[in-house]
Amino acid sequence: MPATPPGDAAVTDDFGLAGVPDAFQRLWTPHRLAYIKEGQDQVTSEQTCPFCRAPHRSDEESLIVHRGTHAFVLLNLFPYNAGHLLVCPYRHVPDYTDIDEAETAEIAALTQTAMRVLRKVSNPSGFNLGMNQGVTGGAGIAAHLHQHVVPRWGGDGNFLPIIAQTKAITQTLGDVRAQVAAAWPSAAGPAGSDA
Ligand SMILES: [Zn+2]
Repeated sequence: MPATPPGDAAVTDDFGLAGVPDAFQRLWTPHRLAYIKEGQDQVTSEQTCPFCRAPHRSDEESLIVHRGTHAFVLLNLFPYNAGHLLVCPYRHVPDYTDIDEAETAEIAALTQTAMRVLRKVSNPSGFNLGMNQGVTGGAGIAAHLHQHVVPRWGGDGNFLPIIAQTKAITQTLGDVRAQVAAAWPSAAGPAGSDA
């Protein structure tokens, strides 16, 4: 890889439009700012936190694909791509340094399983994995830690989000949830380490 600093060539995508062609390309979407602002204002306690409330509803209602011992996995209601998953601890803690050893291990194992499942059901050519820490770090729900698992396909960062503020998602969330949940058990580690 050439060690050139980011310049004009590095901030345009395949179509020559403005973009940030690094691991966080799809995690920076200005048109989501309204949602982010609204979401932060609404999450003032565990009672109003969507990640605390989700496990108390059905898998279908909450788009949950797997429930582990210390953490669970659900589809992002506002996906960057079809199959965009979130791995969350059950505990309402904001920071990666807040989770204990067992939570850390299970979130890691669930992230690996999520990648295996997505490879099985939708054959992505890449992934973005990451945790946005704090409002400044871009977290939509900063009060409750969540790890993004975003499947990527060549050409998915196209011009639609820029010119139309629209992301083409070709499957309904319910369909994707059912597919991912069905594929989960066979993709989990042989030791069942993610419970
Ligand atoms: Zn919470």
